[in-house]
Amino acid sequence: MAVDRFGRNIHYLRVSLTDRCNLRCVYCMPEDMTFRPPAELLQDDELLRLMPLFVSLGFDKFRLTGGEPTVRAGVVDLVRGMTGTPGVKHVSMTTNGVLLRTLAAPLAEAGLERVNVSVDTLNPERFHKITRYGKLEQVLDGLHAAEAAGLRPLKINTVVARGFNEEDVVDLARLTLDHNWQVRYIEMMPFGDVADFAQNQIVTQEEVMGRISAELGALELLNGGKLSGEARLYRLPGARGTVGFISSVTAPFCAACTRARLTADGRLRLCLLRDGEVDLLTPLRAGASDDELADIVRGAIWRKPWGHGLADDVVPESRVMSQIGG
Ligand code: SAM
Repeated sequence: MAVDRFGRNIHYLRVSLTDRCNLRCVYCMPEDMTFRPPAELLQDDELLRLMPLFVSLGFDKFRLTGGEPTVRAGVVDLVRGMTGTPGVKHVSMTTNGVLLRTLAAPLAEAGLERVNVSVDTLNPERFHKITRYGKLEQVLDGLHAAEAAGLRPLKINTVVARGFNEEDVVDLARLTLDHNWQVRYIEMMPFGDVADFAQNQIVTQEEVMGRISAELGALELLNGGKLSGEARLYRLPGARGTVGFISSVTAPFCAACTRARLTADGRLRLCLLRDGEVDLLTPLRAGASDDELADIVRGAIWRKPWGHGLADDVVPESRVMSQIGG
């Protein structure tokens, strides 16, 4: 079991498969983003070597992210290798859904359990504006393909940015009336080059809840307010699905954190919102043994920071979200 010095059991690894993306969401990366050369990223065999090592340390839950994980060449075979690693219980993915129309079925067949799909608005023009060139209909096709392939329960991630989509939160919540989906509103977090944007355009949970309740009725708090993963869940009157809030900025859940992140370039990042990282790629390529690599991971987890420092204006500067793995 990998435990940090505060007694938290860290067993959930978010694995970034690439820093590249087929969209350019305004709050996620600058338009003229430069990407790492592929040779500087963890290769399939390197990633598959690290999987049993993380399992041996107690990790059982893995989420593939990016960048956009579905643009990684050979993603289906890589997923098959990861899900086939003994001891791996759950492998899921966070995706923008653009490629799910064709990839949902093969990914499900390769053992992927479910997907979270990021959709910030159901308005095609505003979707185009927020993603800089996305086509909403591709994502909606992807959502339905995911459901048909059995990648359930389906969760929708919505980041709310003032001036872009704060009015669309109601339409997204309305989806939960007829679908057993979870629509989760994520407070925008500041990173690197897009930090100013995120801080100036943030829309809080309180405002989103107010907009939804005013149109669709009171939101009933579920689970006695206990977090489900990182989200606090609610239900609209008569709804099949649920509405969730991930309010890392105004209501941090660091005390309940169980995760670490592996960046596409092989760095272990212990807190999304703090810059410190531990390099695994260099020792791995220098011939470190499994025991040596496990010691590096164990030590890094022990030193995991207690939580983020946004309240004290400590903002991660070194990388934007797409380079870390959201
Ligand atoms: N490309 C995939 C996707 O769109 O879901 C996976 C990577 S993306 C970085 C993962 C999640 O992070 C998405 O839901 C995205 O909306 C969210 N995200 C990106 N930048 C963010 C920010 N500054 N604050 C909060 N969430 C952010």
